[in-house]
Amino acid sequence: MSAAPKTPIFPGSLDAAGQPATLGVMGGGQLGRMFVHAAQRLGFFTAVLEPDAQSPAGLVSHHHIQTDYNDPTGLAQLARLCHAVTTEFENVPAEALQALAVTRPVAPGAAAVGIAQNRIEEKAHFTACADVSGVTCAPYAVIETLAQLNAVPADLLPGILKTARMGYDGKGQVRVKTAAELGAAWGDLGQVACVLEKMLPLKAECSVLVARGWDGRVVSFAPQRNVHVDGILAVTHAYDGNMPPALATAARAATVSIANHIGYVGVLCVEFFVVDDGSQHGGLIVNEMAPRPHNSGHYTMDACDVSQFDLQVCAMAGLPLPAPRQHSPAIMLNLLGDVWLDTSGDVREPDWQAVLSLPGTHLHLYGKLDARAGRKMGHLNITGPDVDGVKTVARQAADVLGLPGLDFI
Ligand code: ADP
Ligand code: MG
Repeated sequence: MSAAPKTPIFPGSLDAAGQPATLGVMGGGQLGRMFVHAAQRLGFFTAVLEPDAQSPAGLVSHHHIQTDYNDPTGLAQLARLCHAVTTEFENVPAEALQALAVTRPVAPGAAAVGIAQNRIEEKAHFTACADVSGVTCAPYAVIETLAQLNAVPADLLPGILKTARMGYDGKGQVRVKTAAELGAAWGDLGQVACVLEKMLPLKAECSVLVARGWDGRVVSFAPQRNVHVDGILAVTHAYDGNMPPALATAARAATVSIANHIGYVGVLCVEFFVVDDGSQHGGLIVNEMAPRPHNSGHYTMDACDVSQFDLQVCAMAGLPLPAPRQHSPAIMLNLLGDVWLDTSGDVREPDWQAVLSLPGTHLHLYGKLDARAGRKMGHLNITGPDVDGVKTVARQAADVLGLPGLDFI
């Protein structure tokens, strides 16, 4: 377990050695870039450890340490430069976080990140919290051996076989209807450790972001409703009335208890399913957690007085955690590389002129110059004085850009 900073790390301050207050991040993707922007706006220096020379975060940071995530020299350099370290992706090697934690505050810590890296441990954690959180995960079975495969109860089918590790954006998942399909799918996945989850009748999906400080203080955002297309987040709805209030309250409370249970420090996102259980609004099921800011929280950058990245900065630095206030209803549209590709797969410039002419649009691009189908290139936040106006602009922007996920509203 990493130690808290002895005193808060104030932006703009110099340490005893005369070094400016510097925050570090493992990983150079878009989440790291938005973290760097938030840290710099407050006055921190930043350092990014990332092997890729042209990464979104590395391009905008004061320091870019270009080594592998578990390179001892790179990690030592990061520790030397930084007064605290965070992570922007959950597959950062837990040993790297452990090594950094010997000399530096690291938030979230290796143990929490380790749980989020492995669906088997993650589900065990959710189950351990269920008495307090009031929310269980989908019925599931662990499959690590042939004997476990053969012992899978029939009522888990049809189901989704998910690799325990390294799955994201629907990757590492196979939908199976029969025991024969399950066996074949496990073979196709290389017989690695998996969980089989019962396929649930989803009414909706939502997620909750909380930030928890070294002192255990927790602040949170209201739940956002998420629409996925082909396993990737397409649209986030963030406004009053986006989901039934009782479910929103339960999801928020469950997320706080899931963070508290492991003494989490930093920003945590928990994803939930709303399932059709015969009740009026449906029931909540906890799906997975991300030990970092999350794509579904990007609306907070324009719709709230404090964003998820601001809270990531404050939490790791031991600064007071402001309770965020959402001042505008918002819809976030994810911009995948597909937006840059015409029907024959050639790259074209999206019609930004038309999109940016729409009221309340806020464009965030991640500095990736190479558009590929399915690649997260940026997002568009739409805010406005009222929900109906925001929905109208979102539909117009989605039409201009050819985006999916808004057709059912
Ligand atoms: P990832 O790590 O790729 O986000 P998830 O477990 O969140 O993996 O699954 C991706 C999407 O697949 C979910 O957002 C949901 O739309 C769908 N899905 C996953 N598990 C189930 C399930 N048990 N029943 C129904 N749909 C599911
Ligand atoms: Mg997910």
